[in-house]
Amino acid sequence: MITSPMTTKKIRSVFTIKNKTFLTPHLIRIILDIDDTQAELLANVQSGSNNKIFIPTVTEKSNEPIVRTYTNRKVDLENRELIIDFVSHGENGPASAWALRVNKGDTLEVGMKESKRPLVPDADFHLFVGDATALPVICSIVEQLPSCVTAKILLEVHGKEDEVMICSAADISVEWLHNPQPEKGSRLAELARQVEIPTGLLKRYVYIAAEYTTVRELRSYFKEILNWDPNGMYASSYWKAGQAENI
Ligand SMILES: Cc1cc2nc3c(=O)[nH]c(=O)nc-3n(C[C@H](O)[C@H](O)[C@H](O)COP(=O)(O)OP(=O)(O)OC[C@H]3O[C@@H](n4cnc5c(N)ncnc54)[C@H](O)[C@@H]3O)c2cc1C
Repeated sequence: MITSPMTTKKIRSVFTIKNKTFLTPHLIRIILDIDDTQAELLANVQSGSNNKIFIPTVTEKSNEPIVRTYTNRKVDLENRELIIDFVSHGENGPASAWALRVNKGDTLEVGMKESKRPLVPDADFHLFVGDATALPVICSIVEQLPSCVTAKILLEVHGKEDEVMICSAADISVEWLHNPQPEKGSRLAELARQVEIPTGLLKRYVYIAAEYTTVRELRSYFKEILNWDPNGMYASSYWKAGQAENI
């Protein structure tokens, strides 16, 4: 486990949408403009860190924003852009629905923490297992890996047309799994269990981020079957089928 001696500063700011594109049929890229004041605030926010987005709502009962957790896919201070990629899973979730309907010039309030803590520790071999919601964080981490590292990446997306180019200095191999209905179950855990993990290396690290059931299955597989060192694993449930995010 990595611990940070630094205190983390919380940032909350309203950003203007500079651009919106469909990266793939089911992944919407929202590019937020970073102004001068925000550039100072974001100086220590890492690409790949997570955030809270505040989706405005006005109903009879409340005008409190709905809060959801996303990933700062890229904090690009040089081009003054904060990039967030949204899985488009329809109108049934406020965040997905918001991303589908917003336009250039609209705004989004985002909260985040500054931190210099590495997103993954140094390791000789990394295994990344994620579904579409983890594509932003995994792409971001893999882009930052050094060349001396080997990484195996197993990713689930809706279909062939949702695969994206993954760039890295590291020696990476990527395997794609297609699942047009992730809310009805996934084979990601089953396939992850079949991955051959090299033995005899100094340090191995596994990073799992996906739907709740996949994460639960893999967490117990690594812990109970493989007796995996708990310090060599990150496993986080990014969403739960049939349930809205509960902040
Ligand atoms: C640390 C962290 C980082 C994350 N980063 C990202 C990110 O960068 N991009 C991203 O797209 N997501 C990301 N997620 C996942 C995202 O927070 C959830 O998918 C969230 O539920 C979406 O909110 P919503 O308002 O669209 O749907 P909700 O109101 O939360 O849910 C409504 C319904 O939609 C279903 N649902 C939610 N997500 C999906 C999905 N992906 N596919 C199918 N059905 C779904 C729920 O099961 C529920 O039935 C992240 C989650 C965490 C914890």
